[in-house]
Amino acid sequence: MSIKKGKNYPYGIHVPDRKSLTEDKPIESMLAPEKVYVCMSQHIGAPAIPCVAVGDVVKKGVMVGQASGVISANVFASVSGTVVGIEDIVNALGQKLTYVVIENNHDESQTLFEDMTDFSPASLIERIRLAGIVGLGGAGFPTAVKLSPKSQLDVLIINGAECEPYLNCDYRLMLERTDDIYKGIKYAAAALKINRIIVGIEANKPQAIKAFERFDDLEVVILKKQYPMGSEKHLIYCTTGRKVPCGKMPFDVGVCVQNIKTMIACYEAIDLNKPLTETVITVSGNGVKEPKNLKVPLGTPFNTLVEYCGGLSEQTMKLVAGGPMMGKALVGLNQFTRKTDSGLLCLQREEISLQSATNCINCGMCAKNCPMRLMPMYIESFTLAGDYKNAERYGAMNCIECGSCAFNCPAKRALVQSISLAKVKIKEMKKNG
Ligand code: SF4
Ligand code: SF4
Repeated sequence: MSIKKGKNYPYGIHVPDRKSLTEDKPIESMLAPEKVYVCMSQHIGAPAIPCVAVGDVVKKGVMVGQASGVISANVFASVSGTVVGIEDIVNALGQKLTYVVIENNHDESQTLFEDMTDFSPASLIERIRLAGIVGLGGAGFPTAVKLSPKSQLDVLIINGAECEPYLNCDYRLMLERTDDIYKGIKYAAAALKINRIIVGIEANKPQAIKAFERFDDLEVVILKKQYPMGSEKHLIYCTTGRKVPCGKMPFDVGVCVQNIKTMIACYEAIDLNKPLTETVITVSGNGVKEPKNLKVPLGTPFNTLVEYCGGLSEQTMKLVAGGPMMGKALVGLNQFTRKTDSGLLCLQREEISLQSATNCINCGMCAKNCPMRLMPMYIESFTLAGDYKNAERYGAMNCIECGSCAFNCPAKRALVQSISLAKVKIKEMKKNG
C-alpha cells in the first residue's frame, strides 16, 4: 500500500461543497418506471442507430441502439417490455434527440453476454466496447477507444475527486462497492498493459481513502479539496507532476484517466456479463424534499426521480442536470437519465444567484482563478463582438468549461456560455476553411 499527498496547484477555487445533504445516504435502487426513454445519444460521437421496431418485445439487456462508428456506443434496453415508440423528443436541455421508448412489463430477467474465456487485452476491450461503456463521469467518450491508445502508456489514474458540489454518487460507490471498483480497475490496467495505478481522492473523503488503502497494488493520492480537482489535466498534475500541454491529451504524457462508475461498468460487463443499463445519480438541493443517491435504469424520466425523492418544494427555483459548476440548467423535468448523468439538482433561492449581469469592471478575478490560466474577460468580449479569431488566439479552445471564472465574477458575466459559444464558432470556422 502506498499513500501520499498530491501536489498543489496554485489556481482553482474553493466552493461550498454542500455534500452533507446526501453524503451519508446509501445508494437506493429505485423501482423501474412504467416507461423508459432510452436515448441514442448518451455519448460523444455519432448517435447509436435504433435496431428495434415499434411493437417489438425486448428483454432488459437487449441491444436497442447500435453504435454507428468507432466514436459511438451501443445502447441497451434498461427494462423488459414492449417498444412503444422511436421518437425524436426535445428534452429539457433543448436538444432534439432520438429515443427508444419501452413500456415496462416488469419482467426482471435480463439478457446477458456469454461468459468470457479469453481475458487478453483485446478481448477485454472488445467486451467493454460491446457493453456500450463510455466515460461515465460526464465526458461520454467510448471507453474501449480510450483503452486502445496508439502508444504504450505507463500510468492509469482513477478519478475519485468528485469535486463538484452536491454530488456524492462516486463517493458512495467508493464506500459501498470498493471491491467491484478494484476489479474494474484491474481489468482496465490489464487492457492497457499498465502496472502503475493511482487512485486520486480529495481529502474531504477520508472514508473513501481508507477503503482503498488496503490494496497493495494501488497508489492512493490524497488531493487537496479544490475545484476543479477532477479535471483530467489538474488531476494528472496533482497525482504525477506531469503537465499536459495545451492542445495535448493525457495519452501524450503516458496517462489514461478513468472514472469510478466506469470501472464498475467494466467489472459488470466482464465478470457479470452485463451491458450498461443503469446509472447512479445524486438527486439533491434544498428544493427536493428527500435528497438521495439512486441507482436507476437508463431512460428514467427525471420527474419519476423527483417523485421518488418526495417531490419538489414550492420554493424550488432552478433545476440543473449535473453539478452546479459544470451542469446544465433544465427548463423542466422533461429529461431522462443517460449514461453520463451524475446529478439532478433542485435548487432554492439561497442556493443560486439571481443577480443580473452588469458591465465588466476589469477586476481580473476571472483570470486570477482560471485553472487554465486564460483571460476569460477578453475571450468573452471577443465572442460578443463576433471576433472568434481573437477568441481563439486568447485560448478559448483550452477552456475546460469549469465555471470558476463565472463563480468569481462580481458582475455575474455569463463567461462560460460565451466561451462555449466561441468554441462552437471556432470549430465551424475551421470546418468551413
Ligand atoms: S475560462 Fe474556462 S477554464 Fe478558465 S475558469 Fe472559465 S470556464 Fe474554467
Ligand atoms: S471577473 Fe467579471 S468583472 Fe472581473 S474582469 Fe472578469 S468578467 Fe470582468
